[in-house]
Amino acid sequence: AQPTMSTCNELSQPHQPHVALLPSAGMGHLTPFLRLATKLIHHHCRVTLITTHPTVSLTESQFISRFLSAFPQATQLQFHLLPLDPSTANSNDPFWLGFEAIRRSAHLLSPLLSSLSPPLDALIYDVSLISAVIPVVESLHIYNYILFPSSARMFSLFSHYPNFASKAIFGDVLEVIPGLKPIPRSSIPPYLIPDSLFANIAKEDSHKLPKSNGVLINTFEGLESEALEAFSNRKSVIEGLPPVLAVGPLVPCEFEKGEWDEPLKWLNEQEDGSVVYVSFGSRTAMSRDQLREVGHGLLKSECRFLWVVKDKKVDKEDKEGLDEVVGHELIEKMREKGLVVKKWVDQGELLGHKAVGGFVSHCGWNSVTEAAWHGVPILAWPQRGDQKINAEVVEMSGVGIWEKSWGWGGNDDQMVVKGEEIGKRIRELMGKELLRVQAAHIREEARKAFGVGGNCERMFKQLVEGWK
Ligand code: UDP
Ligand code: UDP
Repeated sequence: AQPTMSTCNELSQPHQPHVALLPSAGMGHLTPFLRLATKLIHHHCRVTLITTHPTVSLTESQFISRFLSAFPQATQLQFHLLPLDPSTANSNDPFWLGFEAIRRSAHLLSPLLSSLSPPLDALIYDVSLISAVIPVVESLHIYNYILFPSSARMFSLFSHYPNFASKAIFGDVLEVIPGLKPIPRSSIPPYLIPDSLFANIAKEDSHKLPKSNGVLINTFEGLESEALEAFSNRKSVIEGLPPVLAVGPLVPCEFEKGEWDEPLKWLNEQEDGSVVYVSFGSRTAMSRDQLREVGHGLLKSECRFLWVVKDKKVDKEDKEGLDEVVGHELIEKMREKGLVVKKWVDQGELLGHKAVGGFVSHCGWNSVTEAAWHGVPILAWPQRGDQKINAEVVEMSGVGIWEKSWGWGGNDDQMVVKGEEIGKRIRELMGKELLRVQAAHIREEARKAFGVGGNCERMFKQLVEGWK
């Protein structure tokens, strides 16, 4: 006999949503995707990770391997990029060329994704890929979500770009959304200044936001209440903008830990809260003059320090030793007070060490959220892109301080901040009790958002239920 409808339902398994993830180039873009993937697996989704080949940095391929071995239940879908002739791409930044290579190869994804079994329910992709991915998801008739790997404040700027890009814009301040503190002209990412290459891309891509089903942002109320409230007040938001979902904090995961534990061992020998951790992320190479001043500044600060030095944007090109990059004499002097390394460290874990009492950061958004998660006060020193907008969040939330006169950190305007000045600000960072209290408060807020019954869990449940 034919089973009735009800027995049919009883016999069938609950539908396990199948989600594919498409990150863009660089660790700042890959890391939140892998953390998101971990969350989705915990929420019983079937996850397919689209891995682009080749990656720009070695670290990206190492992290992909670590993730895949930690989660054998995740499927890898290899996506071989078409070769890109850099002379046709109008940029010499290796990571942006990486974005462009993915964009130009994205049409190859349609047959790859449609052959997946069971069929996909949703694709989550990086904000840098919008225009290229929309035709793919439209042909597949699946849900599509953007992961925005920066702050909600930065998203206010990105999402409202069509509204102001064409006007005679950028007076002294930019009023983006009612309820949001205006953004000073000096904080606008240079790549958004009209007529630059990315301004044109941003103009084209932000226009297409209404075609997505939602925008996921690695943030939470305790860090960005102002921007999140402005977005939840639909009246103040542009027409057709999809829901903004605060899925953060996306926290450092077990699979990220490497085997090299020298920094951790060194921290174990230091007093609680005594060490300032200094790192400018995965893709910022300061000028050698500026690096030397940072070294002098650390000595002047009279604090213990753990400093991660980078000399080249892309890890495989970063071959010279500390003696060549920072100088033998200075490195020798620094040995007594701190640890200086030129290698990938487990930042997500180190920031949680009780010896770390402050963080000098370029304010890449992953770094900011990691510091917030561990309650470590930040001295913001933005270097490029969205980092001043993120530094504004750091300042407004009270998790850190920002010395605005340091500008773009000697990257774009050839300014070199002197060691004396750096040392002074580090002492201020490490000595301010109020900062520690506020950072500890934000840590609590982050834990609440992440924990059982918290907002982050609510967001994931809502998403996954929607796909069932
Ligand atoms: N990171 C790390 N070890 C390093 C350098 C960077 O773990 O030696 C991580 C850092 O914890 C963060 C990411 O790389 O998760 C960098 O992303 P962020 O958004 O902070 O800055 P970006 O590198 O994109 O400028
Ligand atoms: N962007 C874009 N399309 C591109 C390249 C860049 O829309 O092809 C924009 C986008 O807003 C993206 C940002 O530029 O988030 C990346 O710039 P960022 O300075 O954050 O670069 P990253 O350090 O992340 O490589």
